[in-house]
Parts: sequence; C-alpha cells; structure tokens
Amino acid sequence: MEINELISLIPRWQILLAAGIFGALWGSFANVVIVRWPMELSVVRPGSHCLSCKTPIHWYDNIPVLSFFILRGKCRHCGARFSFRYAAVELMLGLLSVGVAQVTLPQSGDFLFGLAAYFVWFAFVWALVTVAMIDLVHYLIPDVIVLPGIVVGILANTFILRLGLLEPVIAAGAAFAVIRLLFIDGYRLITGRPGMGAGDAKLLAMFGAFLGYEGVLFALFAGALQGAFVGAVMVVVRRRDGELNEPIFEEELEETEDDDNVVPDSRFRKARVPFGPFLALGALEYIFVGEYLLRAYSLALGHFMYNVQNLF
Ligand SMILES: [Zn+2]
Repeated sequence: MEINELISLIPRWQILLAAGIFGALWGSFANVVIVRWPMELSVVRPGSHCLSCKTPIHWYDNIPVLSFFILRGKCRHCGARFSFRYAAVELMLGLLSVGVAQVTLPQSGDFLFGLAAYFVWFAFVWALVTVAMIDLVHYLIPDVIVLPGIVVGILANTFILRLGLLEPVIAAGAAFAVIRLLFIDGYRLITGRPGMGAGDAKLLAMFGAFLGYEGVLFALFAGALQGAFVGAVMVVVRRRDGELNEPIFEEELEETEDDDNVVPDSRFRKARVPFGPFLALGALEYIFVGEYLLRAYSLALGHFMYNVQNLF
C-alpha cells in the first residue's frame, strides 16, 4: 500500500494531537533555551532541575503543560514556585504546532511534501516564540537563533516552499538594510540613540527569508501598530502607578558599549517594551490570517476610494 493511502487512514484528530504533543515538547526545550541561553549555559547539560533546590526534575514531573497543573506550579521537593511562563510557552507552541499542521498537512495527496512544509513552518514558529520570550525577559534577540534562521528560510524557500531563491535573499537583505540605515543608524544620527535594537534588524531579515516581501512588510507594520498601542497603554498605566522607569520583569538590563546591547531610544517606547515580541506576533498573524486581513484591507480601501470618487 502506498504511504499516502496509509496515512489517509489515520484519523485527522490523531495527526493533530501528535502535532500538539510534538509542539509542546519543543516548547519545553524553548523554555530551557529562554532561561539558559542569556546566561551562556549549556542547553543540554545538566538536565532539567529546580532552580531553587537544584533537585533534578524526573521525566514524570516534566511533562509539558500537564506537570505544571499536576504539581500546582511548585517544585515537588522544596515547594518553590515555578513561573507560569513555562507552561504558557509549552501550551503556546503546542497550539501553534496544531495550527501549522492543520495548514500544511494535506487531507489527501502528497503527505511527505506537506510534512516537509510542516517542519519548516514549525521551526520558524518555534524561533519566533523563543526569540520573543528572550527579548521580553532579557531585552536581547539572540544571533544564535536568528542568523541560522535566515539561512534556513532561504534554503526552505529554494527547495520546498513557493518563493524560490531570489525573493527571500532580496527581502532579507533589504529588510536588514532599511532597518539598519533608517531606524538604527539614521535615527541615532538625529537623536543620539538608535530607534530600534540591532537584533530587530536581524529578526526582520529572518522574516524576509521565510515570508518574502509581502510578509516582512506585513509583520513590520502589524508589529509596529500593536507595539505602539500596547506601549501607549503601558505608559498610561505605569504613569498612574508611578513605576514608569521600573523594568517589566525582575531581570535588570545591563547596558554596555557593545552595539548589540545599546538600549533603543526610550522616547520611542517610553515603557521600555521590547519590539521583538510584537514583530513575532506580526509574523504569526501573517502566517495564519495575513491573506484574509490583506484581502479585507484591499476591499475596504476599494470601498473607500469608490466613496471618495462619488463625493466629487
Ligand atoms: Zn526545588
């Protein structure tokens, strides 16, 4: 029996459930990277352990999402609280994996090709969530994820996805150059501080490599719009509470002369909200609903122009 026929016998929900478990397991690994990478620790050794009492966590206490609720968010040995962030990242990547599987894996037809597309898109989504969380907690975007991501995006588009070689290369290069020249170096020339972080330019280059021209523009605009909105809300809330200059998370930011660590202009984002998570959100929106939003937008614009013309 042919492989596609065999797979078409598996109920759809079982395939999606497998994708969810696979995603949550990679969410578990994302948590390790989020905690350890900024501290320059190995992501492989030692195994998972409680950060308070250093007791190793057994596999049965380390089941993505479920263990957090079974143990009520506490270490079995010392009772120290685990951040809900761990379970949230696992749940998020589990659900995103189901979403990617639903979009990429065909009900019938060439399943192996769909599977290749699934792995490419899940790798991109994993990178988005991991980078967003590291930026949220540490105000840094790790080269070690984003730079290989650019290469993977270009290769994937050349051999598996639809954009080919030229568009991802140009989109990645153009995104990096525009952000670097206008929003970082140009902005610094005028105001004395960069308007965006150096990591944001590389992150957008990765978007270009995976999503092409349309996707990188969409993610930039959607990210900027939502970032500005949340930033404005946070300025109001924190000004009211008189904590405008306190960091969002406990980890304090170290500013160094290293170009990558220069804090972007605080007038640009008064509440010190990192931009990376919003860019990642914009990219996710493009993957899952970009087509619908763009169509709705062009329809609305069409109606608007039609009405404007009728005024005269
Ligand atoms: Zn403990």
